[in-house]
Amino acid sequence: MTKFTPPKRTLMGPGPSDVPQRILDAMAQPTIGHLDPAFQTLMEDIKGLLKYAFQTENALTFPLSAPGSAGMECAFVNLLEPGDKAIICRNGVFGGRMIENVERCGAIAVVVENDWGEPVDPEMVEDALKDHPDAKILAFVHAETSTGVLSDAETLCRLAREHDCLTIVDAVTSLGGNPLCVDDWGIDAIYSGSQKCLSCPPGLSPVSFSEHALEAIRNRSHKVQSWFLDLSLVMDYWDGEGGRTYHHTAPVNAMYGLHESLCILKEEGLENAWARHTAMHEKLRDGLEDMGLEYLVAPEYRLPQLNTVKIPVHVTDEAALRKRLLEEFNLEIGAGLGALAGKVWRIGLMGYSAKQENVDLCLNALRRILN
Ligand code: PLP
Repeated sequence: MTKFTPPKRTLMGPGPSDVPQRILDAMAQPTIGHLDPAFQTLMEDIKGLLKYAFQTENALTFPLSAPGSAGMECAFVNLLEPGDKAIICRNGVFGGRMIENVERCGAIAVVVENDWGEPVDPEMVEDALKDHPDAKILAFVHAETSTGVLSDAETLCRLAREHDCLTIVDAVTSLGGNPLCVDDWGIDAIYSGSQKCLSCPPGLSPVSFSEHALEAIRNRSHKVQSWFLDLSLVMDYWDGEGGRTYHHTAPVNAMYGLHESLCILKEEGLENAWARHTAMHEKLRDGLEDMGLEYLVAPEYRLPQLNTVKIPVHVTDEAALRKRLLEEFNLEIGAGLGALAGKVWRIGLMGYSAKQENVDLCLNALRRILN
């Protein structure tokens, strides 16, 4: 048997992003028991740091021991019961997954559909809220990773509140990369992922639930159908200060990594991290446009951390071009997803990947290959 040695890549796709050595070092520390008092202290620290990242005082703020998809599922299975109605905004792949979740809860999805490359339209959402006063949930993706579009979470959450609707917000790609204020915007349930703008390895999903969301969960008449994601059970593990009970064995070393990444975010400051993503995006955009590449998304809705550019017509085999980037430059960029497969590239500038040297590498490599 030979040891696996991963190649050294620069990750500029839709995630995972580059992981700084500091986080890898943190993860390589000795494993301790997940109920060890030292680990419990770490859990408390992580909760506090996540509250900062999400800008919330929500007591139920913690990382689920599973990827972003589990964060999504956790929000839906806990807040929806069979027969409930949820308004789901779909403007890309991940809105579609939300609909799947609703249906699997035995609930009814009312879909507000916007074109891929467009943000969620608040007027259409308001109409849907008026047409469906019995809707319990409004759910949308803040930063659609499949298209590179940012939607106006603040306005959408305000509309939901005006219609007595709880909100579920997908912040897998936005946390740490775009302004996001859970309490000020009145978000009820939010989930993210470790591998995007937090620059951790994949596998953890930070989540946060408001008091309104918890009230809805407490008033459920059916058991949550997922044992692992049932918040009433997970809460005893993450929330039982001093007296935690066993729920599952937390991925201890992954938590070391998340803790380190959140320390890095706090040291930099959220506003500075948001500004860095924007500054790097502007540099990349200037270089890409100089090469004649065009963005899919209008400037006002573009994600700085995910640049979706149309594949030039003269490129007949886009997969071969990405393969060359990987083989000759050790550079990963993302392919189009779903309906955009073969039509766009998704160039990520997430977290630690949002830096000048990555921008330069990507522009130089693309210039060489496209010429
Ligand atoms: N939601 C969005 C917007 C995403 O970009 C992703 C992953 O790319 C997910 C959900 C699912 O996250 P994960 O792949 O960590 O399960």
